[in-house]
Amino acid sequence: MNRLHVTRLKSGLIAGVGVASVLLLTSGAIAAPQLVLVNAKVFTADPALPYAQAVAIEDGSILAVDSDEKIRALAGPNTRIIDVGGRLVTPGFTEAHVHLGNELPTPPLAMPNLPFPGPTGEQALAAVEQAAKTRTDWICAYVGPLVARDQRNWRKALDMVAPNTPVYFKGFWGHTTIVNSEGLRRLGIAEGITDPLGGWWGRDENGRLDGRAYEAAETITARIRPLTPGYLATVFGAAQQRYARWGVTSIHLMNNDKSLEVTLAGLASAKPAQKWTVYSWGAWQTPAERIPDAWAVIEKAAKQAPAKVRVEGPKWMLDGTPIEQDSLQRKAYSNRPDWHGRSNFSDAQLREILKLALEQPSQLALHVVGDAETDRMLKMMEQLAPASAWRTKRVRIEHGDGIQPDTTAKVVELGFVVIQNPTHLNAPIPGESLASEHMLLKSFLAAGIPLALGSDGGPKEQNPFLNLMLAALHTSEPTEALSREAALMAYTAGGAYAEGQEQRKGRIAPGLAADIAVLSQDVLTIPPPQLPATTSLLTLVDGEVIFEDPVLASTK
Ligand SMILES: [Zn+2]
Repeated sequence: MNRLHVTRLKSGLIAGVGVASVLLLTSGAIAAPQLVLVNAKVFTADPALPYAQAVAIEDGSILAVDSDEKIRALAGPNTRIIDVGGRLVTPGFTEAHVHLGNELPTPPLAMPNLPFPGPTGEQALAAVEQAAKTRTDWICAYVGPLVARDQRNWRKALDMVAPNTPVYFKGFWGHTTIVNSEGLRRLGIAEGITDPLGGWWGRDENGRLDGRAYEAAETITARIRPLTPGYLATVFGAAQQRYARWGVTSIHLMNNDKSLEVTLAGLASAKPAQKWTVYSWGAWQTPAERIPDAWAVIEKAAKQAPAKVRVEGPKWMLDGTPIEQDSLQRKAYSNRPDWHGRSNFSDAQLREILKLALEQPSQLALHVVGDAETDRMLKMMEQLAPASAWRTKRVRIEHGDGIQPDTTAKVVELGFVVIQNPTHLNAPIPGESLASEHMLLKSFLAAGIPLALGSDGGPKEQNPFLNLMLAALHTSEPTEALSREAALMAYTAGGAYAEGQEQRKGRIAPGLAADIAVLSQDVLTIPPPQLPATTSLLTLVDGEVIFEDPVLASTK
């Protein structure tokens, strides 16, 4: 019984209230919803009742979903009634894959043509040469695929133009890090350094460091400016506000390049407004021989997680991406006939990761992008345990770009959930149409693969409605585009399923959390180019208003 009921019982408001307008609790007290949304087009994401007109909310949960008439009849004298003016009401969105808080350590040097194809090698070197004339602190820059794929010895090339200034290049998508000699010196990286778990140092033909850090080795560059809880609190706080204006009520944070401890401290001081699930980074400074440590940190940190924050994982990156050409592909990259990409883990390491995932309670998340790396992972899982054992684990495939028509059946059998990022489906990759033959999306649903959507945005939050448009268009393979309803399902019920919370949230159904968005426009029917302009006018998390646009209040 909440305070509202007690107050009403004491003040005798029960008298005169029609029986039809109240619900009798077992205690004998009378409950009316705190909030009802009426005159709505309610998309429930619940197959039992796909559409309704109104919703009643009580004690943070959905009390009823029904017609305007029936829901209005539930309202009591203290019920707030919001007429949403016929607008679309949806379950709150889940951003199922985002990276936050990884801005470059110093403001990025301007580089032409970002993101695709980004500067050429010569353009990048000219910009650094110019900056190095006046600077002694770190020169940081985002680069694109042209630099990432440029096979020159970057350490030597950068040393020529910046012999005394530390230089740090980062691929805008991650997965590419280049540092010059002064940079290596300041980071304490010397010849003889051993490769970390899930990554390695680039070396020239004489075995000398060539300035490239691959995959988990890239995390060492976090030493340039270690992230603090205070800084992360600012980043997370800003992301929460922006996401609230987009109707996002759950956020799956891929916790790259920082410790779980610092992220949880940052979230605690940001005061979580949405429901956060932090996917711990498996190869965050984990020595190669200490794979179980990746689970130990989760167990320890989960106990310290602030309210509304869950910890899952670890997340491991099994390969790279086609942008820098390190995802492991069945076909060689078209401009490098001998190169198929590579795996970040040996067979023995991957086997240990998978075995531990079977034993441990937390949910495994695997970045796997190349079709050949996907094949390798599926085969090893089948060798390790029966499909029924894997189905209880609900392993996440982050991205799913490598799942091909001939592997969807295995993905279903092993009980994966796929998190796809619509930005990947529309990225123009120069010199390469797509690394894998197909970039599936609609076929996942046809095959019965559970699907969630996330932006893969970083270092800042990203508009889910831009991603909704990209999922609805799928310009690289339009026959794989999602219907609006399917995309909305993936963004809501699919997101909850992806973190094992489908019994608590993700749909507008009685008993589930009242995580709800009232959208500014009907994303089910408007033309695709209008989708990114969508905002939420009212965003609720557990029935609490985390964002309200005055426009909505005035339509009462
Ligand atoms: Zn990502």
